[in-house]
Amino acid sequence: MAEAVIQSKSNVDFQRIREQFPVLSQQIKGQTLVYLDNAASSQMPSRVADRIDAYQRNEHANVHRGIHTLSQKATDAYELTRKKVQRFINAGHKEEIIYTTGTTDSINLVANSFGDRFIGEGDKILISEVEHHANIVPWQMVAERKGAKINVIPVDDHGDIIWDKYVELLTDNTAIVAVGHVSNALGTVHPVKKMISEAHKRDIPVMVDGAQAVPHTPVDVQDLDADFYAFSAHKMCGPTGFGILYGKKKYLNEMPPYRGGGDMIDKVSFEETTYNITPYKFEAGTPPIAAGIGFGETISFLEEIGMPNIAEQERELLEYGTQKLNAVEGIRIIGTAKEKASVLSFVHEDIHATDIGTILDQQGIAIRTGHHCAQPTMRRFNVPATARASLSFYNNKEDIDRLIKGIKKAISIFQ
Ligand code: PLP
Repeated sequence: MAEAVIQSKSNVDFQRIREQFPVLSQQIKGQTLVYLDNAASSQMPSRVADRIDAYQRNEHANVHRGIHTLSQKATDAYELTRKKVQRFINAGHKEEIIYTTGTTDSINLVANSFGDRFIGEGDKILISEVEHHANIVPWQMVAERKGAKINVIPVDDHGDIIWDKYVELLTDNTAIVAVGHVSNALGTVHPVKKMISEAHKRDIPVMVDGAQAVPHTPVDVQDLDADFYAFSAHKMCGPTGFGILYGKKKYLNEMPPYRGGGDMIDKVSFEETTYNITPYKFEAGTPPIAAGIGFGETISFLEEIGMPNIAEQERELLEYGTQKLNAVEGIRIIGTAKEKASVLSFVHEDIHATDIGTILDQQGIAIRTGHHCAQPTMRRFNVPATARASLSFYNNKEDIDRLIKGIKKAISIFQ
């Protein structure tokens, strides 16, 4: 609620907010957990878990179907989330908010449905060199089906896209640009507003994979002028199994349904079936109702803290972490873009990332190691894997100090 929004970061008690995440106070391997795997999945505050629990215990019924009171109450609660999401990302219409099971599902929806209608033989699909597999493979699949081709925007050694190459790759037969807002492996914040504006000069639509952006920074889809924008609830303190696809009505209305079944139809006969209106024509079957209702609570939680405050808090933590990590001998940060968000991906000159991760786990510190579902990114930077500490607003400088101490211990063990 607007009046509950805390206006400036200095008024936000992040320690008190941290206490709302019970998972963070547990002991792992005899030490208080330091959770730095937020880019994979972030933790859930008690109030979101409580909301899901209350729904499951007292309010559960199927949605959109029953005339009975419980079903109507469940439908209202579930649909309230759509309004909250609309406001949260400043979409023009609530019909432009499609519920999915996550970013992967959202991108598959666009690739299949937009692809069916708008991608043809010889067309180009433009993605960047540092995408998550979720924003590569669905496009490869549709390209293969349709006889289209994937073009790749290269990045420089920092992880920033090379602008001139991007502009060069926008051609008359580019059917769509699909680009991550923030790279999960590097933390690069791509200049998506500028990229969209450039693509629109040639009437090329742009889909943004916002999985790593929405949790960390205010996103305004109208200001960006994005044609599609995808994200997942579980990376922003919400439940798993739920996500969003924002799409402009002008495209959604033209796009065919992606999955068939209950709820997405208007009339069904053996001769002919007509479809429900947007967004319901994309939402076949019983949805993840509990997760959807829980996500509504998540959005209220984030709005009360204020996304600009969250962004500022994480920027401070990222700066602190970057400085500390750069001071550790033998460590090299992969991903040094001008604009970065909450990701510290790094390698050690002699020690494999997995070994660093294992030693950190023994000290109760959770990070991610591997290719982060971004194998082409690893190849671009000539590394088999990185260790990745990814931050959330509920982390603090002590978490980063524990990380640095843990890395130094790993180095001392292996050298
Ligand atoms: N895109 C990016 C940039 C990601 O980081 C991820 C998950 O790590 C995804 C897409 C896929 O998200 P999900 O697994 O929630 O569908």
